[in-house]
Amino acid sequence: MRLSMNTQILLGALTGTGLGLALGVLPDDATTRVQGLYLAGLIGGIFVALLKMVLVPLVFSSIVVGVAHLRQHGNIRRVWVSTLLFYLLTVTIAVILGVSAANLFRPGAGMHLDMFADALAGFEAKQLPFPDFVQQFLTGLFKNPFAALASGDIVALVVFALILGVALVQAGDRYPVINRGMEEMQDLSLRIVGAIMKLAPWGIAALLARLIATQDVALLETMARFVAVVLGTTLFHGIVVLPCLLWLIARVSPMKLWRGGRESFLTALATSSSSATMPITMRVTQTNFGVSPATVGFVVPVGTTMNMDGTALYEAAAALFIASLVGIELSTGQQIVVCIMSMLAAVGAPGIPSAGMVTMVMVLQSVGLPAEAIAILLPIDRILDAVRTVVNVEGDIIGSIVVDHVAGADLPRNPANLDARG
Ligand code: ASP
Repeated sequence: MRLSMNTQILLGALTGTGLGLALGVLPDDATTRVQGLYLAGLIGGIFVALLKMVLVPLVFSSIVVGVAHLRQHGNIRRVWVSTLLFYLLTVTIAVILGVSAANLFRPGAGMHLDMFADALAGFEAKQLPFPDFVQQFLTGLFKNPFAALASGDIVALVVFALILGVALVQAGDRYPVINRGMEEMQDLSLRIVGAIMKLAPWGIAALLARLIATQDVALLETMARFVAVVLGTTLFHGIVVLPCLLWLIARVSPMKLWRGGRESFLTALATSSSSATMPITMRVTQTNFGVSPATVGFVVPVGTTMNMDGTALYEAAAALFIASLVGIELSTGQQIVVCIMSMLAAVGAPGIPSAGMVTMVMVLQSVGLPAEAIAILLPIDRILDAVRTVVNVEGDIIGSIVVDHVAGADLPRNPANLDARG
Protein backbone atom coordinates (compact mmCIF):
# COMPACT_ATOMS: atom_id res chain seq x y z
CA MET A 1 0.00 0.00 0.00
CA ARG A 2 1.31 3.43 -0.91
CA LEU A 3 0.63 6.09 1.73
CA SER A 4 -0.59 9.48 0.53
CA MET A 5 1.76 12.42 0.94
CA ASN A 6 -0.53 13.85 3.61
CA THR A 7 -0.33 10.67 5.69
CA GLN A 8 3.42 10.44 5.20
CA ILE A 9 3.84 14.01 6.44
CA LEU A 10 1.66 13.33 9.45
CA LEU A 11 3.69 10.23 10.26
CA GLY A 12 6.86 12.29 9.85
CA ALA A 13 5.54 14.88 12.32
CA LEU A 14 4.61 12.20 14.88
CA THR A 15 7.94 10.42 14.51
CA GLY A 16 9.81 13.73 14.84
CA THR A 17 7.87 14.61 18.00
CA GLY A 18 8.59 11.18 19.51
CA LEU A 19 12.28 11.37 18.62
CA GLY A 20 12.51 14.92 19.98
CA LEU A 21 11.01 13.86 23.31
CA ALA A 22 13.35 10.88 23.49
CA LEU A 23 16.46 12.95 22.66
CA GLY A 24 15.29 15.65 25.05
CA VAL A 25 15.49 13.43 28.13
CA LEU A 26 19.08 12.35 27.41
CA PRO A 27 21.91 14.29 29.09
CA ASP A 28 23.31 17.12 26.97
CA ASP A 29 26.58 15.31 26.24
CA ALA A 30 25.20 11.82 25.57
CA THR A 31 26.62 10.55 22.28
CA THR A 32 23.21 9.45 20.99
CA ARG A 33 21.80 12.90 21.65
CA VAL A 34 24.72 14.71 20.02
CA GLN A 35 24.65 12.47 16.96
CA GLY A 36 20.86 12.52 16.75
CA LEU A 37 20.77 16.30 16.86
CA TYR A 38 23.52 16.51 14.25
CA LEU A 39 21.64 14.22 11.89
CA ALA A 40 18.35 16.01 12.48
CA GLY A 41 20.05 19.35 11.84
CA LEU A 42 21.55 18.02 8.62
CA ILE A 43 18.34 16.56 7.16
CA GLY A 44 16.20 19.48 8.32
CA GLY A 45 18.76 21.94 7.00
CA ILE A 46 18.79 20.34 3.55
CA PHE A 47 15.00 20.38 3.37
CA VAL A 48 14.80 24.07 4.28
CA ALA A 49 17.67 24.92 1.91
CA LEU A 50 15.85 23.19 -0.96
CA LEU A 51 12.69 25.17 -0.28
CA LYS A 52 14.68 28.38 -0.16
CA MET A 53 16.39 27.44 -3.40
CA VAL A 54 13.14 27.37 -5.30
CA LEU A 55 11.59 30.30 -3.45
CA VAL A 56 13.10 33.17 -5.45
CA PRO A 57 12.23 31.99 -8.99
CA LEU A 58 8.80 30.94 -7.75
CA VAL A 59 7.92 34.22 -6.01
CA PHE A 60 9.26 36.31 -8.82
CA SER A 61 7.50 34.53 -11.67
CA SER A 62 4.28 34.04 -9.70
CA ILE A 63 3.80 37.69 -8.94
CA VAL A 64 4.56 38.83 -12.48
CA VAL A 65 2.18 36.20 -13.85
CA GLY A 66 -0.39 37.00 -11.17
CA VAL A 67 -0.45 40.71 -11.97
CA ALA A 68 -0.45 40.12 -15.74
CA HIS A 69 -3.38 37.68 -15.51
CA LEU A 70 -5.39 39.88 -13.23
CA ARG A 71 -5.22 42.80 -15.57
CA GLN A 72 -6.13 40.71 -18.58
CA HIS A 73 -9.34 39.91 -16.80
CA GLY A 74 -9.95 43.47 -15.78
CA ASN A 75 -10.21 42.81 -12.05
CA ILE A 76 -6.81 43.73 -10.69
CA ARG A 77 -8.41 46.44 -8.57
CA ARG A 78 -10.94 44.13 -7.00
CA VAL A 79 -8.29 41.58 -6.14
CA TRP A 80 -5.99 44.22 -4.66
CA VAL A 81 -8.71 45.82 -2.64
CA SER A 82 -10.20 42.58 -1.33
CA THR A 83 -6.74 41.23 -0.46
CA LEU A 84 -5.80 44.30 1.55
CA LEU A 85 -9.21 44.58 3.23
CA PHE A 86 -9.24 40.93 4.22
CA TYR A 87 -5.70 41.04 5.59
CA LEU A 88 -6.49 44.24 7.49
CA LEU A 89 -9.63 42.70 8.97
CA THR A 90 -7.91 39.55 10.21
CA VAL A 91 -4.86 41.29 11.62
CA THR A 92 -7.07 43.77 13.48
CA ILE A 93 -9.01 40.92 15.07
CA ALA A 94 -5.68 39.26 15.94
CA VAL A 95 -4.22 42.23 17.83
CA ILE A 96 -7.50 42.87 19.64
CA LEU A 97 -7.50 39.24 20.74
CA GLY A 98 -3.87 39.49 21.87
CA VAL A 99 -4.46 42.62 23.95
CA SER A 100 -7.74 41.33 25.40
CA ALA A 101 -6.21 38.00 26.42
CA ALA A 102 -3.26 39.74 28.08
CA ASN A 103 -5.64 42.03 30.00
CA LEU A 104 -7.96 39.23 30.95
CA PHE A 105 -5.47 36.60 32.07
CA ARG A 106 -2.66 38.91 33.20
CA PRO A 107 0.05 36.30 32.69
CA GLY A 108 2.74 38.62 34.07
CA ALA A 109 1.01 39.38 37.36
CA GLY A 110 3.05 38.38 40.39
CA MET A 111 6.28 37.79 38.46
CA HIS A 112 9.33 39.99 38.78
CA LEU A 113 11.76 41.11 36.20
CA ASP A 114 14.69 40.80 38.63
CA MET A 115 14.64 37.08 38.26
CA PHE A 116 15.68 37.54 34.65
CA ALA A 117 18.61 39.79 35.48
CA ASP A 118 21.11 37.30 34.09
CA ALA A 119 19.35 36.94 30.78
CA LEU A 120 18.95 40.69 30.56
CA ALA A 121 22.63 41.27 31.17
CA GLY A 122 23.59 38.93 28.36
CA PHE A 123 21.37 40.41 25.74
CA GLU A 124 21.98 43.47 23.62
CA ALA A 125 18.87 44.54 21.81
CA LYS A 126 19.05 46.16 18.44
CA GLN A 127 17.84 49.67 19.12
CA LEU A 128 15.79 51.06 16.30
CA PRO A 129 13.62 54.10 17.00
CA PHE A 130 10.31 54.24 15.14
CA PRO A 131 11.20 56.92 12.51
CA ASP A 132 14.35 54.96 11.63
CA PHE A 133 12.36 51.78 11.34
CA VAL A 134 9.92 53.46 8.92
CA GLN A 135 12.77 54.89 6.88
CA GLN A 136 14.60 51.58 6.75
CA PHE A 137 11.43 49.73 5.84
CA LEU A 138 10.43 52.12 3.04
CA THR A 139 13.85 52.47 1.44
CA GLY A 140 14.30 48.70 1.73
CA LEU A 141 11.31 48.23 -0.56
CA PHE A 142 13.25 49.32 -3.63
CA LYS A 143 16.45 47.60 -4.60
CA ASN A 144 18.46 46.66 -7.63
CA PRO A 145 16.41 43.61 -8.69
CA PHE A 146 19.49 41.53 -9.43
CA ALA A 147 20.87 42.19 -5.95
CA ALA A 148 17.46 41.33 -4.48
CA LEU A 149 17.27 38.15 -6.54
CA ALA A 150 20.75 37.10 -5.59
CA SER A 151 20.41 37.84 -1.89
CA GLY A 152 16.89 36.43 -1.67
CA ASP A 153 15.48 39.71 -0.36
CA ILE A 154 11.83 38.73 -0.64
CA VAL A 155 10.25 42.09 0.15
CA ALA A 156 12.28 43.99 -2.47
CA LEU A 157 11.66 41.15 -4.89
CA VAL A 158 7.90 41.30 -4.39
CA VAL A 159 7.95 45.04 -5.05
CA PHE A 160 10.04 44.75 -8.22
CA ALA A 161 7.91 41.88 -9.51
CA LEU A 162 4.77 43.97 -8.93
CA ILE A 163 6.31 46.87 -10.85
CA LEU A 164 7.44 44.59 -13.68
CA GLY A 165 4.00 42.95 -13.81
CA VAL A 166 2.25 46.29 -14.08
CA ALA A 167 4.69 47.49 -16.76
CA LEU A 168 4.12 44.32 -18.77
CA VAL A 169 0.38 44.78 -18.56
CA GLN A 170 0.60 48.40 -19.64
CA ALA A 171 2.68 47.37 -22.64
CA GLY A 172 -0.18 45.19 -23.86
CA ASP A 173 0.94 42.54 -26.34
CA ARG A 174 4.41 43.90 -26.88
CA TYR A 175 6.33 41.32 -24.85
CA PRO A 176 4.78 37.92 -25.50
CA VAL A 177 8.07 36.09 -24.99
CA ILE A 178 8.65 37.54 -21.54
CA ASN A 179 5.02 36.93 -20.55
CA ARG A 180 5.22 33.35 -21.68
CA GLY A 181 8.66 32.85 -20.16
CA MET A 182 7.37 33.97 -16.78
CA GLU A 183 4.44 31.56 -16.99
CA GLU A 184 6.78 28.72 -17.83
CA MET A 185 9.13 29.65 -15.03
CA GLN A 186 6.24 29.57 -12.54
CA ASP A 187 5.08 26.22 -13.84
CA LEU A 188 8.58 24.75 -13.67
CA SER A 189 9.18 26.10 -10.18
CA LEU A 190 5.99 24.42 -8.97
CA ARG A 191 7.15 21.18 -10.50
CA ILE A 192 10.38 21.45 -8.53
CA VAL A 193 8.34 22.09 -5.38
CA GLY A 194 6.46 18.87 -6.12
CA ALA A 195 9.75 16.99 -6.21
CA ILE A 196 11.04 18.62 -3.02
CA MET A 197 7.80 17.66 -1.28
CA LYS A 198 8.79 14.03 -1.57
CA LEU A 199 11.42 14.83 1.05
CA ALA A 200 8.94 16.66 3.28
CA PRO A 201 8.12 13.79 5.70
CA TRP A 202 11.84 13.36 6.46
CA GLY A 203 12.53 17.07 6.67
CA ILE A 204 9.59 17.70 8.97
CA ALA A 205 10.48 14.77 11.24
CA ALA A 206 14.06 16.02 11.56
CA LEU A 207 13.12 19.64 12.20
CA LEU A 208 10.51 18.79 14.82
CA ALA A 209 12.84 16.37 16.59
CA ARG A 210 15.45 19.09 16.90
CA LEU A 211 12.95 21.75 17.94
CA ILE A 212 11.51 19.63 20.73
CA ALA A 213 14.78 18.14 21.96
CA THR A 214 16.47 21.52 22.41
CA GLN A 215 13.60 23.39 24.06
CA ASP A 216 14.67 24.90 27.37
CA VAL A 217 12.19 23.24 29.71
CA ALA A 218 13.19 25.01 32.90
CA LEU A 219 12.50 28.45 31.51
CA LEU A 220 9.43 27.17 29.79
CA GLU A 221 8.02 26.27 33.18
CA THR A 222 8.65 29.71 34.62
CA MET A 223 6.95 31.31 31.68
CA ALA A 224 4.24 28.69 31.41
CA ARG A 225 1.40 31.07 32.03
CA PHE A 226 2.43 33.47 29.33
CA VAL A 227 3.11 30.64 26.92
CA ALA A 228 -0.31 29.15 27.69
CA VAL A 229 -2.12 32.46 27.18
CA VAL A 230 -0.36 33.20 23.89
CA LEU A 231 -0.74 29.65 22.62
CA GLY A 232 -4.40 29.51 23.62
CA THR A 233 -5.21 32.85 21.99
CA THR A 234 -3.22 32.09 18.85
CA LEU A 235 -4.95 28.74 18.52
CA PHE A 236 -8.33 30.39 19.11
CA HIS A 237 -7.60 32.76 16.25
CA GLY A 238 -6.42 29.91 14.04
CA ILE A 239 -9.05 27.34 14.94
CA VAL A 240 -12.11 29.50 15.51
CA VAL A 241 -11.82 33.02 14.06
CA LEU A 242 -10.11 32.39 10.72
CA PRO A 243 -12.09 29.22 9.81
CA CYS A 244 -15.34 31.06 10.72
CA LEU A 245 -14.44 33.89 8.37
CA LEU A 246 -13.62 31.34 5.68
CA TRP A 247 -16.94 29.60 6.19
CA LEU A 248 -18.93 32.84 6.31
CA ILE A 249 -17.37 34.31 3.18
CA ALA A 250 -16.47 31.35 0.97
CA ARG A 251 -18.44 28.45 2.50
CA VAL A 252 -15.36 26.27 2.81
CA SER A 253 -15.61 23.97 5.84
CA PRO A 254 -12.91 23.80 8.54
CA MET A 255 -12.46 20.09 7.79
CA LYS A 256 -11.63 20.86 4.20
CA LEU A 257 -9.23 23.57 5.36
CA TRP A 258 -7.34 21.22 7.71
CA ARG A 259 -7.19 18.43 5.19
CA GLY A 260 -6.24 20.57 2.21
CA GLY A 261 -3.76 22.76 4.07
CA ARG A 262 -2.08 20.10 6.20
CA GLU A 263 1.15 19.99 4.18
CA SER A 264 1.57 23.72 4.61
CA PHE A 265 0.62 23.77 8.29
CA LEU A 266 3.05 21.03 9.24
CA THR A 267 5.85 22.58 7.21
CA ALA A 268 5.21 25.93 8.88
CA LEU A 269 5.25 24.25 12.29
CA ALA A 270 8.52 22.52 11.52
CA THR A 271 10.34 25.39 9.81
CA SER A 272 8.93 28.41 11.74
CA SER A 273 9.16 30.25 8.45
CA SER A 274 6.30 31.43 6.25
CA SER A 275 8.77 32.16 3.46
CA ALA A 276 10.20 28.64 3.46
CA THR A 277 6.63 27.30 3.53
CA MET A 278 5.44 29.55 0.72
CA PRO A 279 6.21 27.23 -2.19
CA ILE A 280 4.07 24.56 -0.53
CA THR A 281 1.34 27.07 0.31
CA MET A 282 1.17 28.15 -3.32
CA ARG A 283 0.90 24.58 -4.40
CA VAL A 284 -1.81 23.46 -1.96
CA THR A 285 -4.00 26.51 -2.57
CA GLN A 286 -4.07 25.64 -6.26
CA THR A 287 -4.19 21.87 -6.17
CA ASN A 288 -6.25 21.28 -3.02
CA PHE A 289 -8.52 24.33 -3.01
CA GLY A 290 -8.71 25.04 -6.73
CA VAL A 291 -7.75 28.70 -6.37
CA SER A 292 -6.75 30.27 -9.68
CA PRO A 293 -2.98 30.64 -10.30
CA ALA A 294 -3.43 34.37 -10.87
CA THR A 295 -4.98 34.89 -7.43
CA VAL A 296 -2.45 32.64 -5.74
CA GLY A 297 0.41 34.35 -7.56
CA PHE A 298 -0.61 37.64 -6.08
CA VAL A 299 -2.28 36.95 -2.73
CA VAL A 300 0.10 34.33 -1.30
CA PRO A 301 3.43 36.16 -1.85
CA VAL A 302 1.97 39.43 -0.62
CA GLY A 303 0.45 37.62 2.37
CA THR A 304 3.66 35.76 3.16
CA THR A 305 5.60 38.97 3.50
CA MET A 306 2.92 41.19 5.00
CA ASN A 307 0.02 39.24 6.51
CA MET A 308 1.02 37.75 9.85
CA ASP A 309 -1.87 37.43 12.26
CA GLY A 310 0.01 35.12 14.61
CA THR A 311 2.94 37.54 14.82
CA ALA A 312 0.73 40.60 15.40
CA LEU A 313 -1.25 38.83 18.11
CA TYR A 314 1.93 37.69 19.81
CA GLU A 315 3.61 41.09 19.73
CA ALA A 316 0.60 42.83 21.24
CA ALA A 317 0.23 40.26 24.02
CA ALA A 318 3.97 40.20 24.69
CA ALA A 319 4.20 43.99 25.02
CA LEU A 320 1.49 43.98 27.70
CA PHE A 321 3.16 41.05 29.40
CA ILE A 322 6.49 42.89 29.58
CA ALA A 323 4.72 46.00 30.84
CA SER A 324 3.23 44.12 33.75
CA LEU A 325 6.55 42.42 34.47
CA VAL A 326 8.29 45.76 34.83
CA GLY A 327 5.33 47.06 36.83
CA ILE A 328 3.92 49.52 34.30
CA GLU A 329 0.17 49.78 33.84
CA LEU A 330 -0.46 50.79 30.19
CA SER A 331 -3.30 53.27 29.59
CA THR A 332 -5.96 52.57 26.96
CA GLY A 333 -4.24 55.04 24.63
CA GLN A 334 -0.93 53.25 25.07
CA GLN A 335 -2.62 49.93 24.42
CA ILE A 336 -3.99 51.30 21.16
CA VAL A 337 -0.46 52.39 20.22
CA VAL A 338 0.70 48.85 21.03
CA CYS A 339 -2.01 47.46 18.72
CA ILE A 340 -1.07 49.69 15.80
CA MET A 341 2.63 49.11 16.26
CA SER A 342 2.09 45.35 16.47
CA MET A 343 0.30 45.40 13.13
CA LEU A 344 3.14 47.40 11.57
CA ALA A 345 5.71 45.14 13.19
CA ALA A 346 4.00 42.11 11.69
CA VAL A 347 3.99 43.73 8.24
CA GLY A 348 7.66 44.58 8.64
CA ALA A 349 8.72 41.14 9.88
CA PRO A 350 10.05 38.88 7.14
CA GLY A 351 8.73 35.30 7.11
CA ILE A 352 11.76 33.77 8.79
CA PRO A 353 12.23 32.16 12.21
CA SER A 354 11.99 34.59 15.13
CA ALA A 355 11.64 37.60 12.84
CA GLY A 356 8.92 38.82 15.17
CA MET A 357 11.53 39.11 17.93
CA VAL A 358 13.43 41.74 15.96
CA THR A 359 10.40 43.89 15.20
CA MET A 360 9.20 43.41 18.79
CA VAL A 361 11.76 46.05 19.76
CA MET A 362 9.83 48.77 18.00
CA VAL A 363 6.57 47.78 19.71
CA LEU A 364 8.21 47.91 23.14
CA GLN A 365 9.90 51.21 22.46
CA SER A 366 6.74 52.83 21.18
CA VAL A 367 5.36 52.86 24.73
CA GLY A 368 8.67 53.34 26.50
CA LEU A 369 9.26 49.75 27.56
CA PRO A 370 12.86 48.50 27.74
CA ALA A 371 13.89 46.81 24.50
CA GLU A 372 16.23 44.59 26.52
CA ALA A 373 13.17 42.81 27.88
CA ILE A 374 13.26 40.77 24.71
CA ALA A 375 15.77 38.62 26.54
CA ILE A 376 12.86 37.27 28.56
CA LEU A 377 10.95 36.33 25.47
CA LEU A 378 13.80 34.77 23.51
CA PRO A 379 14.11 31.45 25.35
CA ILE A 380 10.45 30.64 24.86
CA ASP A 381 10.28 31.95 21.34
CA ARG A 382 10.92 28.73 19.49
CA ILE A 383 7.72 27.06 20.49
CA LEU A 384 5.59 30.20 20.14
CA ASP A 385 7.22 31.02 16.80
CA ALA A 386 6.34 27.57 15.43
CA VAL A 387 2.67 27.99 16.33
CA ARG A 388 2.30 31.60 15.21
CA THR A 389 3.92 30.75 11.88
CA VAL A 390 1.22 28.13 11.28
CA VAL A 391 -1.44 30.77 11.88
CA ASN A 392 0.43 33.22 9.63
CA VAL A 393 0.42 30.65 6.84
CA GLU A 394 -3.20 29.72 7.50
CA GLY A 395 -4.11 33.39 7.04
CA ASP A 396 -2.45 33.37 3.61
CA ILE A 397 -4.25 30.21 2.50
CA ILE A 398 -7.61 31.51 3.71
CA GLY A 399 -6.88 34.91 2.19
CA SER A 400 -6.30 33.41 -1.25
CA ILE A 401 -9.47 31.28 -1.07
CA VAL A 402 -11.56 34.24 0.10
CA VAL A 403 -10.14 36.68 -2.45
CA ASP A 404 -10.57 34.15 -5.26
CA HIS A 405 -14.16 33.64 -4.15
CA VAL A 406 -14.93 37.35 -3.93
CA ALA A 407 -12.99 38.70 -6.90
CA GLY A 408 -11.60 35.90 -9.02
CA ALA A 409 -14.62 34.00 -10.33
CA ASP A 410 -13.72 34.58 -13.96
CA LEU A 411 -10.01 33.89 -13.66
CA PRO A 412 -8.58 30.87 -15.49
CA ARG A 413 -7.75 27.72 -13.50
CA ASN A 414 -5.47 25.04 -14.71
CA PRO A 415 -5.00 22.38 -12.07
CA ALA A 416 -3.74 19.74 -14.51
CA ASN A 417 -0.94 22.05 -15.53
CA LEU A 418 0.13 22.60 -11.95
CA ASP A 419 -0.24 19.19 -10.49
CA ALA A 420 3.28 17.93 -10.17
CA ARG A 421 2.23 15.32 -7.61
CA GLY A 422 2.87 12.66 -10.23
N1 ASP B 1 8.41 33.05 11.99
C1 ASP B 1 7.31 33.88 11.60
C2 ASP B 1 6.94 33.58 10.16
O1 ASP B 1 7.77 33.16 9.39
C3 ASP B 1 7.58 35.32 11.76
C4 ASP B 1 7.71 35.64 13.22
O2 ASP B 1 8.77 35.54 13.78
O3 ASP B 1 6.69 35.95 13.84
O4 ASP B 1 5.81 33.77 9.77
